Amino acid sequence: MDISIVVPLYNEAESLPELEQWIARVMDDNGFSYEILFINDGSTDDSWDVIRKLSEKNPSVKGVCFRRNYGKSPALNTGFRRAQGDVVITMDADLQDSPDEIPELYRMITEDGYDLVSGWKRKRYDPLSKTIPTKLFNATARRVSGIHNLHDFNCGLKAYRNKVVKHIEVYGDMHRYIPYLAKNAGFTRIGEKVVHHQARKYGTTKFGLDRFVNGYLDLATLWFTNKFGVKPMHFFGLLGSLMFLLGFISAVVVGAVKLYNMHSGNHYNLVTDSPYFYIALTLMILGTQLFLAGFVGELVVRNAPGRNHYEIEEEIRTELPA
Ligand code: UDP
Ligand code: MG
Repeated sequence: MDISIVVPLYNEAESLPELEQWIARVMDDNGFSYEILFINDGSTDDSWDVIRKLSEKNPSVKGVCFRRNYGKSPALNTGFRRAQGDVVITMDADLQDSPDEIPELYRMITEDGYDLVSGWKRKRYDPLSKTIPTKLFNATARRVSGIHNLHDFNCGLKAYRNKVVKHIEVYGDMHRYIPYLAKNAGFTRIGEKVVHHQARKYGTTKFGLDRFVNGYLDLATLWFTNKFGVKPMHFFGLLGSLMFLLGFISAVVVGAVKLYNMHSGNHYNLVTDSPYFYIALTLMILGTQLFLAGFVGELVVRNAPGRNHYEIEEEIRTELPA
């Protein structure tokens, strides 16, 4: 099969028939064999009935129905586990992404050799309250992830080589950082294509402004787990030791100054009268705490199931004759 199209959706009943028709038309015009995987993320409207009807009419339409609303990432991950096509395309269900982009995305994966191609909604039809924070968000994501050529990390329209989606796990709200996840899994040929974007025709957006707060927190999590996930002591241990050392030296200095003044007959104060004593004490306590956090982290990692999981590209095995 050439293409799997994964469509996560939550209360998008009005858009679905139009979307299915449009995709089918593009696929037939280009002679692609395909499947459409509609992942109904616990919709409370009649999206699922619509999907049932569509699949009776078109056998390429498949569907999964969650019992409750889990979020876009769980929906995408479920689609990824099932996708059989050589190229996997994700798109939003709200008709903001155009299926006309699919042939070119397919070509970029199969001919130009990209592992992942992300859409870039250069001209967006969204309110300003969304487009401006999005710019900041993408600038941060570029810096942190080191994927400098992407302008639009969170674009719903993306294309993947099949093995990419089989080797990444999208959970929580991590769909915003799929290119980063792919990069961390060793898929570095990441490209971008400018795509057309349209204003939402039916229904309403499912994400509020909290997406930006959560987006930054998730970015911090990804950066941290990628860098220190299996060696937390390298982070906490270093930071903790430095702080403790700084506090210890300061305490010694505070004590030494007092002793010196005592012996040379100068006027002297109690060490507890000096603010530096308390700063030094706080540093030592915080340093110890950080160090312990690193230790606890190491104990957790020892038992983490993924601690020895590696992405293997190829392997040579030979049998020696007995
Ligand atoms: N979506 C989903 N589960 C959710 C929220 C959203 O499957 O909990 C789907 C939604 O139906 C749409 C896509 O994710 O197909 C993108 O959502 P939306 O269009 O609301 O996001 P925006 O375009 O405003 O960024
Ligand atoms: Mg949308």
